[in-house]
Amino acid sequence: MRQISLIVFALSLYWPLSVAAKITIITTTEDVASIVHEIGGNQVNVSSLIQGNRDPHYAQAKPSMIRQLSRADLLFVIGADMEVGWLPAALRNARNPRIQAGQEAYIDLSRSVDLIGVVTTSVSRADGDVHAKGNPHYWLNPLNGLKMAQVITDTLSQHSPQHSTFFASQLLQFNTKLQTAYAQWQTQLSFLQGKKIMTYHTSLDYLAQAFGFSIVAQLEPKPGIAPTAAHLRGLIKTIKQENIHYLLMEQFYEQGSAKLLQRQTDIRVIRIPQSVGANTEINTYTELFESIVSRFQEAH
Ligand SMILES: [Zn+2]
Repeated sequence: MRQISLIVFALSLYWPLSVAAKITIITTTEDVASIVHEIGGNQVNVSSLIQGNRDPHYAQAKPSMIRQLSRADLLFVIGADMEVGWLPAALRNARNPRIQAGQEAYIDLSRSVDLIGVVTTSVSRADGDVHAKGNPHYWLNPLNGLKMAQVITDTLSQHSPQHSTFFASQLLQFNTKLQTAYAQWQTQLSFLQGKKIMTYHTSLDYLAQAFGFSIVAQLEPKPGIAPTAAHLRGLIKTIKQENIHYLLMEQFYEQGSAKLLQRQTDIRVIRIPQSVGANTEINTYTELFESIVSRFQEAH
């Protein structure tokens, strides 16, 4: 009897410890979740608040989201106001003091990258949904993925120092794989160098930075504002005058405006995934770029 109770006692000690050993991590987007997964491996339980096939500017603070947040040890966000429309409410309702903005377990990844387009003058609602803190779509440059992975590794090592060697070796693998792939993608997309491209939203500036093309116009007259007939008429002129080759847009945007431009001009429309999880075959950060590269090659 004594032996059995000893065994039970030993198991009760072991089980909660082994479960607690995994770090519960919540990220706002699947891109971040996929990098956390690659660095943290079996030491982490990671899930994303929004799915990669959705427009990350908008989300609803659903009960499932609040439940996820209430259990988190660490929260990684894109930051630069990307989640400003929905995350603060979800965090308030989750009542998890560890991960509130400003706490150590609330990690804003935008601080680790150089943001494009930080607005220094004042902006009003009339300017549209401007990202005044800088363009938050930075994960679309693989070099920023390396920076995000570094912050994630540092955070995990700080949280679980006993696994820091493991996290460091995972980071090395991630970096090697991504750097090798990036060099290859640059070669595959070398035909884009100096090409003039139009996008739907101001979200693809980092992709342009990574692959050397220039974005000369947007379908949205102002960020977050749907294209108007007058704006589209102006764009038809611009496309012809400037000889714009491609319209590059995320899959979740309406296609009516793009089709209109396609009928009136020679522009080629390329619809791309903007996040891990945008399509079922995109499960990793590397697979996201592989998919984007192949969309460009198909349109070339
Ligand atoms: Zn945006």
